[in-house]
Amino acid sequence: MPGKSTITVHADREVHPSRAVAPPIYQTAAFSAEDAETFAHGAVEPRGKDFYTRFGNPNHAQVAAVVAELENTEAAMVTASGMAALTTSVLALVSAGDHVIGQRSTYGGTASVLLNLLPRLGVTTTLVDQTDPEAFAKALTPRTRLILVETPSNPLLQITDLRAVVELARAHDVLTMADNTFATPLNQRPVDFGIDLVWHSATKYLNGHSDVSAGVLAGPAEILDRIWDVGLLTGATLGPIDAWLLLRGMRTLPLRVPRHNANGLALAEELSSHPAVAKVHYPGLATHPQHKLAVDQMTGFGGVLGIEFVGGFETADAFLGKLRYPRRSASLGGVESLAVHPASMWRGMLSEEQLAESVPLGLVRLAAGTEDTADLVADAVAAADAVLTEAATT
Ligand SMILES: *Cc1c(COP(=O)(O)O)cnc(C)c1O
Repeated sequence: MPGKSTITVHADREVHPSRAVAPPIYQTAAFSAEDAETFAHGAVEPRGKDFYTRFGNPNHAQVAAVVAELENTEAAMVTASGMAALTTSVLALVSAGDHVIGQRSTYGGTASVLLNLLPRLGVTTTLVDQTDPEAFAKALTPRTRLILVETPSNPLLQITDLRAVVELARAHDVLTMADNTFATPLNQRPVDFGIDLVWHSATKYLNGHSDVSAGVLAGPAEILDRIWDVGLLTGATLGPIDAWLLLRGMRTLPLRVPRHNANGLALAEELSSHPAVAKVHYPGLATHPQHKLAVDQMTGFGGVLGIEFVGGFETADAFLGKLRYPRRSASLGGVESLAVHPASMWRGMLSEEQLAESVPLGLVRLAAGTEDTADLVADAVAAADAVLTEAATT
C-alpha cells in the first residue's frame, strides 16, 4: 500500500483517461454513446462516469477513487454537500417503522435529520450520550436499522468508542455510519474498527480551502449502490468544477493535516492554563476525559478545539472580536483559521432552554488553519489576555 501522499496524488489515475497531467474538467451534463447497448449499460451502471452527470461524471469518479483508498473501503461516491451524503444515505437505508440511533453531541444538521426529518417520515430516533457505550445498547430496539456516530463530535470534541458500537451493531445486524469530518482519514479510519459506512463534509478538511461545498461517502459497493440509486432521485449532484476543485484540494490533505494537528494541540495546551479559560475541549489533551480512547482510535487530534471561558457568553463573544487571524465563520477545515461562538450563532434558532442544553454558553469553537503555530498561539493568548483585562476594568 503506497503512502497517503502518494495515494492522494495518484489513486485516480485509472479513472483519468487523458494524457493531461492535471485532469480535465468534464463540464458536461451528458455523454454520448456509440450504440444502443452501451447506452443501456450506462443508464444502470452504479456510480458510472459517462452517461449523464447526475448519474456520475469522470471528475466524481476521480474523487471517489482517492477517497476509497484513503478510507480503506471498496468504493466511494460524491454528493453536493455533506448533508446530501447523510440524507441520501438515510433515505436509502431506512423506511417508515424503522429506528435510528444517533448522538446527542453531533453536528446541528445531523441532529435536525434525527429530530425532525426522520420522525416526520415515520422513522423513530433516539439520541444518546456517546461517551457511554452502554447508552447505545440501551437505546437499541428490534426495529433499529442504523447507528449514526460522529467522533470527535462537533462542537464538544467528544469521542465515540467505535469498537464497542460496532460490536453491538454486528450482534444485532444493524448498519453503522460514521461522520469522519473532524478526524479526516489521516487521523482516523473508522472502517478499520468495523464501521460500515463513512461520510464527510468534504467542504471542510478534504477540500481544505473553504471554496467548495461537497460531501463524500465511502463503504462497500453494495451499500453505495443502494445509496446511489436514491441519489439519482434526490439529485444531490456535485458540479464537475467543484469535484475538480475537491480533487485538487485533496492532493495536499496529507501535508495539511499534520499542521492542523500541531496547531490544534499547541493552542489547546497554551489556552488550558490561561486564567480567562475554564476548560479546553481537545481530545489530544491528557486532561480530556476520553484521552486514552482518542489515542487508541486516532493518530492525530485535528485542528478543532472548544474553549470555554470563565466569563461565559459575553467573554466568549468578546474573545472572537479580539482575535487577529481567526475570522468569525461557521465553517472549519480550511487553511485559514476560523472561529465561532455557537451560543450566539444558535440563539435565533433555539429557545433559551434548548440553547443551554445543547452547548455551554461560554464555548468558542476554534478551528486552527495551517498558519504558523507561534503566530496562532500568540494571537489567541493576546485575545484571552485582553478579555481578562477588560473584565477586570469593568
Ligand atoms: C459541516 C459539517 C457537516 C455538514 O456538511 P455540509 O458540507 O455543510 O453539508 C456534517 N458534519 C460535520 C461534522 C460538519 O462539520
